Amino acid sequence: MTEAKLQFIVDEIERLQQENLFINIRTIESPADGWMVVDGKRVLNFCTNNYLGLANHPRLREAAKKAIDRWGVGPAAVRTIAGTTSLHVELERRLAAFKGVEDALYVQSGFNANQAAIPPLVGKGDVIFSDRLNHASIIDGCRLSGAKIVVYEHCDAEDAEAKIREHLPNYRRGLLVTDGVFSMDGDIAPLDRLYEVAEKYGVLTMVDDAHGEGVLGRGGRGIVDHFDLHGKFDVEIGTLSKAFGVVGGVIAGKKLIVDYIRQKARPFLFSSATTPADTAACLAAVDLLEESEDRVNRLWENARYLRQGMQELGFDTGHSQTPILPIMLGDAGLAKRFSRLLFENGVFAMSIGFPTVPRGQARIRVMNTAAHSKEDLDFGLEVFAKVGRELGVIGK
Ligand SMILES: *Cc1c(COP(=O)(O)O)cnc(C)c1O
Repeated sequence: MTEAKLQFIVDEIERLQQENLFINIRTIESPADGWMVVDGKRVLNFCTNNYLGLANHPRLREAAKKAIDRWGVGPAAVRTIAGTTSLHVELERRLAAFKGVEDALYVQSGFNANQAAIPPLVGKGDVIFSDRLNHASIIDGCRLSGAKIVVYEHCDAEDAEAKIREHLPNYRRGLLVTDGVFSMDGDIAPLDRLYEVAEKYGVLTMVDDAHGEGVLGRGGRGIVDHFDLHGKFDVEIGTLSKAFGVVGGVIAGKKLIVDYIRQKARPFLFSSATTPADTAACLAAVDLLEESEDRVNRLWENARYLRQGMQELGFDTGHSQTPILPIMLGDAGLAKRFSRLLFENGVFAMSIGFPTVPRGQARIRVMNTAAHSKEDLDFGLEVFAKVGRELGVIGK
């Protein structure tokens, strides 16, 4: 018998199950390479954000082990008290140089980076202009700030301008914030146009480049590099948990702003530093990215090959312009069945439904990486074809 006060939880879980929105969490039993052991079964991995195959790279592993031997395991303090080691300082210097910005701040996660960066910049009496499909961590950062949130249509700079003209005069200051690469569709924000609009009205600008770092731009220098907008965006948010293969977030940009965020950001002030092992592994990842563009090039070759293959099979791949490849299915139940059949046939690719994507736009999200060979991709395409036919998504 459930206690009466907990009945709402039972009801809500039942609702999620009925709507095919209940998430079954799989257990991983190997590193996040091209193939993985998942729930005891070896499967082709199309699920992780390990774009460049760095999550299990020997140089990163070695760097992490060495850091443990020298520094121990835990940070033992928040950054502002006794948690800033020379490793953190070095990583921030190297990240700023890599991205071509004045300064960078390394925080615990990309999610945290948005909570850290937005509230110091805008608050009550200010207004945020936010893309309709922005990532949950941006949305939560905006809510936390207490500023008025005005949503503009997805990737629509004209609508952003209309919203700024309408609302900005009623507020003290404005912030325009957008994902760089949208994580569920793989399309790219029109950063050049958004910058022009924001600049025209004196609005602060912020881009979350979580899926662009290590992917877009020269050698993976990110979306600002891709659009050649160096020094123009006020704040660039990033993550070390995707292409960089480790964990952590970064707030990069003008020194004045990053220094200010160091004084004000609550996740930075009130939550412990990242570990020495993580920080050192991130440094090794920056080394690898600076040494060679080969991995980034391989990622894009693989992405193009896989997208073309899926399209030739007759799948709807949405509006993707990047290695994020959505296979649009619509119905959440169908997407779940599709994912389950893929898994039974040796391919690990998760279905994504509401609230991660809008209702009725469920999909399989396919993530290839530089760690996949052409044979791997061919195997993946074969299994997608088989399952797609079986479920009547594509013709025979
Ligand atoms: C993944 C993602 C994050 C979260 O990054 P973590 O380092 O995993 O916390 C933040 N913003 C965007 C746009 C993302 O895609």
